Amino acid sequence: MDLIQVLPKQIANQIAAGEVIQRPSSAVKELIENSIDAGADKIELFIKDAGKLLIKVVDNGSGMSINDSRNCHKRHYTSKIKRINDLFKINTMGFRGEALASIASISMMEVISKRIKDSIGIKIILNDGKVADEFEHVSKNGTTINVKNLFYNVPARRKFLKSNNVELRHITNSFIRIALANPDVEMHFYSDDKRILFLKKSNFRKRIINIIGNKKNELLVPISEKTSLVNISGFIGKPEAAKRTRGEQYFFVNGRFIKNNYLNHAIQKGFSDLIGDKYFPSYFINLKIKSDLIDINIHPTKTEIKFENEKEIYAILRATTRKSLGEYNIAPSIDFAQEIAFQNNYNSSKNVSFSEPKIKIDTNYNPFDNELFTKENIQGKIIEENSNESNLQPIQLVNKFIIYLMNDELLPLLY
Ligand code: ADP
Ligand code: MG
Repeated sequence: MDLIQVLPKQIANQIAAGEVIQRPSSAVKELIENSIDAGADKIELFIKDAGKLLIKVVDNGSGMSINDSRNCHKRHYTSKIKRINDLFKINTMGFRGEALASIASISMMEVISKRIKDSIGIKIILNDGKVADEFEHVSKNGTTINVKNLFYNVPARRKFLKSNNVELRHITNSFIRIALANPDVEMHFYSDDKRILFLKKSNFRKRIINIIGNKKNELLVPISEKTSLVNISGFIGKPEAAKRTRGEQYFFVNGRFIKNNYLNHAIQKGFSDLIGDKYFPSYFINLKIKSDLIDINIHPTKTEIKFENEKEIYAILRATTRKSLGEYNIAPSIDFAQEIAFQNNYNSSKNVSFSEPKIKIDTNYNPFDNELFTKENIQGKIIEENSNESNLQPIQLVNKFIIYLMNDELLPLLY
């Protein structure tokens, strides 16, 4: 008797979904990325019960035709690539046509969409990845996706979800990463009807400080370099902004947040002796690289990419970090010149006495000695939890949120 049989489509989809959607934050990431790809300049995220009950993303992007709305949840249905060569010139966040199929197979999903040119939109209700109902819907231009009861039909996965605090932290991280990569998009985030973040359109620097706090503005140093291989722009934190956790470390490659230990090491090396071994520099760095010199299709969640010229980028990044610190008088800039072309001046300057380059260091500075981390403040903020929300600015809400999580002794917020 033969033993092999094909898996039912729904089970195959649920298995595949496990790769892309590990937790509510993965769905948040995929949905917001779709909104970015649809050209939205306003995106709102609403979640309930840390995304376990509801994840709703509302955008004002292109919207979809009736047929596209019907097809968008099917596996391998995508408007973003057509042929294999397109894979090596990806300019969109998505391209594999599997996010909505994955989410739909493990939740109750609704798609509401309308294009500007259509007089009426459509609402499609899906259960277990199949259309359960469909009707005309009066809606604004753009798309709204509701994801209800994520993992309700995969109890084993649902069981693996962590506490609401942990899942919220992951969602906040996903939201912040996309918000930093897209400062020209207005972004809102509500959790259980509370406003967590409200980010107006702005430039990169303003977007950063809207997220990490106004007080950190003066700790940001611009970083910029244009080479034939890569264009680097963004900000690095002054040495005193370095943290004992990996918190504020962001690389964006062509608008996509990525994790890359090797390039992280380049920055760390750029700071070299300016920060202690146990400290992590803050950075918010955009790399623009020709899309055929990177491969995005190596990781299910597209957060790791392969660089064709990783070594060269490492060297440029390290030197550029050093140069920026030098230009802003944080590191001796001569260091930078020496790294590029080391000159041995020893003979010609035998009689000249050398003194060590002076770096101004505030020896009393303790990066953790700020109001955010004091015990009183943590307690104070927790009490604030029950006070009038409307008096709080968005960033205070975020700070409160961070502290709230820290008090539960969770992992550092942003990683
Ligand atoms: P991918 O993004 O890889 O193409 P998805 O499953 O995420 O795959 O989405 C499938 C398709 O549905 C997209 O290619 C796009 O055409 C359409 N789509 C999804 N979300 C939106 C949205 N918010 N606005 C407009 N179109 C969308
Ligand atoms: Mg997508």
